Amino acid sequence: MRTDAPVLSLRGATKRFGGLVAVNDLDFDVAEHEVMGLIGPNGSGKSTTLNLISGALPPTSGGIALRGTPIENLPAQEIARKGVARTFQLVRLLPSMSVLDNVRAGAVFGHRRRWGAEAETHALRMLKLVGLDRRAHAHTGELTYIDTKRVELARVLASDPEVLLLDEWLAGLNPTELEEGIALIRRLRDDGRTIVLVEHVMDAIRSLCDACVVMSSGAKIAEGTPDEVLSDPEVIRAYLGD
Ligand code: ADP
Ligand code: MG
Repeated sequence: MRTDAPVLSLRGATKRFGGLVAVNDLDFDVAEHEVMGLIGPNGSGKSTTLNLISGALPPTSGGIALRGTPIENLPAQEIARKGVARTFQLVRLLPSMSVLDNVRAGAVFGHRRRWGAEAETHALRMLKLVGLDRRAHAHTGELTYIDTKRVELARVLASDPEVLLLDEWLAGLNPTELEEGIALIRRLRDDGRTIVLVEHVMDAIRSLCDACVVMSSGAKIAEGTPDEVLSDPEVIRAYLGD
């Protein structure tokens, strides 16, 4: 069921790095239970947009709201506690800890804090969801690449996020892993998660996204269903020019 207020909204979000406008006057809304695809060629500002939403970087100007409450001036830690969770384009795990401890950290420091046995049970539940419960006690250094991605995803899920920001989570997977990865995100979608999906894999965008925002050189150039935006001549031009 959808509520009236979007879970996430950006209004005029702008980020400059010196003379470069990495994100330029960006507006979009993400509704509850929606999977929103944020797509565009390399360097178009997608990861920077996730950095603005998660508070890793402050916007130069513009507003970002979580369920109508402005978050653009809050520190990243505070935004995470309010329920914005993200994965990184390059996986970031705590290398000296076990798989379970990494995921437990998400449960303990997340949106809905859990402690002790409850945190552990929840972490194991999330590991099962991503298909990694049998490796709970493995060292993260022993894992295959896709399994490190699963751990990272389990960790952010363990924080019970209001909105999940996935930055090219499917990148670098082989065809079999890619199918598994898409199925996993589809399961999250079926569970009613609200997700912003930064992705280059067109099959994933087509099969997972309810709506898409297309960026080029920091600005939004198209918005609509995957079929609408992927057949838009301006979008095709932006990708071919990549
Ligand atoms: P995308 O994720 O769409 O590939 P990014 O958001 O990573 O694009 O980058 C958008 C633009 O901003 C690029 O030109 C990139 O070089 C630049 N950029 C990103 N982060 C920084 C930073 N911390 N400092 C300076 N320039 C940056
Ligand atoms: Mg990026």
